[in-house]
Amino acid sequence: SIEFVGVTKSFGETVIINELDLAIKKGERLILLGPSGCGKSTVLRMISGLESVSSGSLYLNGELANQVDSGDRSIAMVFQNYALFPHMTVAENVGYGLRVNKVPKAQTYQRVGEAIATLGLEGLEDRLPKDLSGGQRQRVALARGVVKRADFFLLDEPLSNLDAQLRGQARKELVKIHELYGQTFVYVTHDQIEAMTIGQRIALLNDGVLQMLDTPYNVYHRPANIFTATFIGSPS
Ligand code: ATP
Ligand code: MG
Repeated sequence: SIEFVGVTKSFGETVIINELDLAIKKGERLILLGPSGCGKSTVLRMISGLESVSSGSLYLNGELANQVDSGDRSIAMVFQNYALFPHMTVAENVGYGLRVNKVPKAQTYQRVGEAIATLGLEGLEDRLPKDLSGGQRQRVALARGVVKRADFFLLDEPLSNLDAQLRGQARKELVKIHELYGQTFVYVTHDQIEAMTIGQRIALLNDGVLQMLDTPYNVYHRPANIFTATFIGSPS
């Protein structure tokens, strides 16, 4: 589980996340939705330990996690820009986290093979990222997350660089991946359609303030306030 209790994050004098209360259940697929600059990536970065909490408390599986921490958390993160290593092949990129964590070679080989198959990357194992299409790169980034089998899978707009058709297909695959591994998913997007089709619940954020937390059905049919009604009803 992930629990934000009155969490505020500021950079200098500027409050970016304001008194956030948000409880994400173990195994849930939660969407963090909101306009550009509202603080979505900052929320993910606090969960992953890349940013500290300024005040309030963040609990991961019941343990206080307010400080910056790059090592210990059972987290896989897919970044907005993929962040692949340009000098490593597809297979090396996917297996990197396992090698760093000293997972035995045979097991690494097996899990990398599985992740590559899950994401449909067979045959591309020895390519470098520069020789892949945008959609293939995005799959490598997802495979690198899948392979870790972390408790928390954090995805920051992972489909934003894909065309509409690939995006539709990838949405279905992401739901399948979630059902396969049962991790807690926190999925960031500014796209209402994506939120509606992928989310079990949606947390809608605006200007660092949580506007509504509910099922896609309720967010759409019973918006809690004008911001929610307007944002959900507007084209992405
Ligand atoms: P997008 O959809 O464009 O990715 P976002 O919702 O992910 O936006 P964040 O990246 O969380 O937004 O940023 C929220 C706000 O915090 C922005 O105004 C941003 O400029 C500011 N911000 C983020 N990181 C820092 C930092 N290290 N120092 C100062 N301000 C920051
Ligand atoms: Mg962002």
